[in-house]
Amino acid sequence: MKIAILGTGAVGRTLSARLVELGHDVVIGTRDVQATQAREEEPFPAPLATAAAAAAGAELIINATAGQASVAALSGAGAAQLAGKVVVDISNPLDFSLGFPPFLAICNTDSVGEQLQRAFPEARVVKTLNTVTAEVMVHPERVAGGDHTIFVSGDDAEAKETVSGLLREFGWRDIIDLGDITTARGTEMMLPLWVRLMGALGTTEFNYKLVR
Ligand code: NAP
Repeated sequence: MKIAILGTGAVGRTLSARLVELGHDVVIGTRDVQATQAREEEPFPAPLATAAAAAAGAELIINATAGQASVAALSGAGAAQLAGKVVVDISNPLDFSLGFPPFLAICNTDSVGEQLQRAFPEARVVKTLNTVTAEVMVHPERVAGGDHTIFVSGDDAEAKETVSGLLREFGWRDIIDLGDITTARGTEMMLPLWVRLMGALGTTEFNYKLVR
């Protein structure tokens, strides 16, 4: 599949490397290609392009930008480039401006997933993977042999099935469809607990398992 990843942090890098390994055609979108290339010591696993150029050629777009900047980042790609496409939203609205632990800049009555769906009504936004660290997103077997849970939220059933297919390619087996995009509030609000679990366990490699 032709995939654009908007995001040049740990998530953008990790996802692009894994998607390339799985045979997908990946481009990484950033605001300033030269500045991004110049600030990184390691080469990226896939070519860099402007967000607009990356999104234009893609069938599916992944939002791996800072949650509070995600609407701006996707606006940089352009609404026309997102129209009709599946937009996988992995972001969290973590605000570190008061130090650690971060707080949620958006919560309770809204979520980044909903903000994106409202800003780009013709995009088919699916929230997922925001509840695990980057390496576990693409290698769930790193924790308990992969016996744990991931969630999908979104208004478009077909888009959620496309994204679930990608999750299965990564190795996810227990995928729970929570419902429409407003259910992204719940998974984004898992982050304050996730951050404290990271402190208590001394690792980022863990996940929630739904027992039922
Ligand atoms: P990050 O440092 O949170 O975000 C980096 C990306 O955000 C860069 O691509 C940057 O764009 C973009 N960005 C920042 N400010 C922007 C602005 N004002 N306008 C447009 N773009 C802006 O990177 P990350 O750690 O890889 O996390 C990405 C997202 O995934 C975050 O929302 C995070 O909460 C979520 N997440 C992360 C993990 C993890 O393991 N790190 C796990 C779960 C979820 P440029 O490339 O143009 O500089």
